[in-house]
Amino acid sequence: MSEPQAPAVIELRQTALTYPGPPQVTGLLPCDLTIQQGEFVTVVGPSGAGKSTLLNVLGLLDAPTSGSYLLDGIDTVSLADAERTALRGERIGFVFQSFHLLAHRPAYENVALALTYRGVPRKDRIARALNALEQVGLGHRAAALPTTLSGGERQRVAIARALVGRPSLLLCDEPTGNLDSATAESILQLLDTLHAEGMTVVVITHDPGVAQRGQRTLTIQDAMMTQTSTS
Ligand code: ADP
Repeated sequence: MSEPQAPAVIELRQTALTYPGPPQVTGLLPCDLTIQQGEFVTVVGPSGAGKSTLLNVLGLLDAPTSGSYLLDGIDTVSLADAERTALRGERIGFVFQSFHLLAHRPAYENVALALTYRGVPRKDRIARALNALEQVGLGHRAAALPTTLSGGERQRVAIARALVGRPSLLLCDEPTGNLDSATAESILQLLDTLHAEGMTVVVITHDPGVAQRGQRTLTIQDAMMTQTSTS
């Protein structure tokens, strides 16, 4: 007998978002999308096309105004706000262009803070934060303040913070947008490694060079999503 198949990490069906306005603005036209566990998908499109709208929907920051969104098989559209927030904290790790680190807390505290509302005892939070920093190659800088770290190192701390809760999905919004090209490449290699280890990764970018790193690229143009396979 075959094993029952795990649900897809992401399952969008005729999912759309209209900003209420006035005037009403179409953020995302109805789209279908399935992302399986362990995929590396990139999303590309010009400014104003709808990339952030899709990110906000996938990241459970905004609920779609029509259609469905199953995350790990869980119907997210019918959840109350507090349930959606809890699911987001549990299953989604965010990485942003501008790192969003607390300047006066050492790297390991920035990472451990992501576990504060999970009921993990402080000792375990610190141990897991140190592990996550090792995973991104920054174990030796665990006690450093973000102000003493380079841009690439700060982004590694942010990635460790995203990973420490063992999310189902790593959702990255222009993760290399603030980095020089050599540092950007090292961050993309880190994302490749995490993908090779089984993480599901979605990267949103306006940079076609970054977009081609995915196994699959979604293109958004005028709120319409289309899919291209790159491997
Ligand atoms: P991108 O991330 O690709 O630059 P966005 O998803 O931010 O694009 O925007 C898509 C469209 O939705 C744009 O026309 C933008 O002006 C509009 N939009 C984005 N956020 C809002 C909002 N909160 N209210 C109204 N319109 C919005």
